[in-house]
Amino acid sequence: MKPKVAFFDFTSCEGWQLDILNLEGQELLDLLNAVDVVNFREVKTEREDNYDIAFIEGSISREAEISRLQKIRNQAKVVIALGACACIGGVNCLKNHLSMDEALRMVYGKDAKNYDTIPSRPVHAVVPVDYYVRGCPATSAEFLKVVKALILGKKPEIPNYPVCVECKMAGNVCVFERGMTCLGPVVRAGCGAICVTSGQHCWGCRGLVDEPNIDSEKDILQKYGLTVEQVVEKFKIYNTYTEVAK
Ligand code: SF4
Ligand code: SF4
Repeated sequence: MKPKVAFFDFTSCEGWQLDILNLEGQELLDLLNAVDVVNFREVKTEREDNYDIAFIEGSISREAEISRLQKIRNQAKVVIALGACACIGGVNCLKNHLSMDEALRMVYGKDAKNYDTIPSRPVHAVVPVDYYVRGCPATSAEFLKVVKALILGKKPEIPNYPVCVECKMAGNVCVFERGMTCLGPVVRAGCGAICVTSGQHCWGCRGLVDEPNIDSEKDILQKYGLTVEQVVEKFKIYNTYTEVAK
C-alpha cells in the first residue's frame, strides 16, 4: 500500500509547495507513483483526513493555527516541517520584535481590530516534528531524498555540517575576502551554497548546525575587522526565533 501523504500550509508564501509542483516531469511522476497524495490544497479540491505523512509549510502565527496543527499531529504518523518558516520560524518571526498590537496596526491599519496574531514560531514549538526539510529557497533534491528515505523506511540523512563545506566544494571565493559578512560557518549545509555561488552571502535560511562553532565565526569576524553585531543583524532575518529562544 502506498503511504498517504498530505500537505498543509500555515503562515507562509507556499513557495515550497509550488516548487514541488515544479519538479521535473519524470520526478513528479515517480513521486505520484510512490505515494498517494490525499491532501494538497494547491492541486486538488478533494481532501481526506486519513493520512500517514504530513508535510507542514509555514510558521504558526495565529491561535487558530495551534489547534489546527495539533489535530494534524494527532492524525499523522510522521510530521515533516517543510521550509524555513516551518523549521526555524523564518522571516515571519521578524514581527516578534514588535508588540502584536503594533504589528497588526502596521499591516492592517484601521482594520487591525478585525484580525488576530501571536508571536510567530516554528512547528516544533507547538508539536513534535519528526524530520526537517530546510531552506528558503527550496531544494527539491532534498525533498525527494527525504520522501525516498521514508518510503524505504529509512531515516533521512540531512547534512549537519556548515555551508562553508559546500561553498569550498563549489570553488567560490569566500565573501569575507570581498568585505562582506556571511553566516556560512555556522549554518547547516544542503543547499550547495547557492547564495554565495550566485554572488551573495549566506543569510542562514537553513538554520544553525547542531553544534555551531560560534567562537570560530567570531574569530573570522575579528580577522576581517567586522563586528558580531554586523552578523547578528543578518542572522535575525531568518532566525529571530532561535535568537530569542537562546
Ligand atoms: S564564509 Fe560564506 S563565503 Fe566564505 S566559505 Fe563560508 S559560506 Fe562561503
Ligand atoms: S547559502 Fe545560506 S541563505 Fe542561501 S540557501 Fe544556503 S543556507 Fe540558505
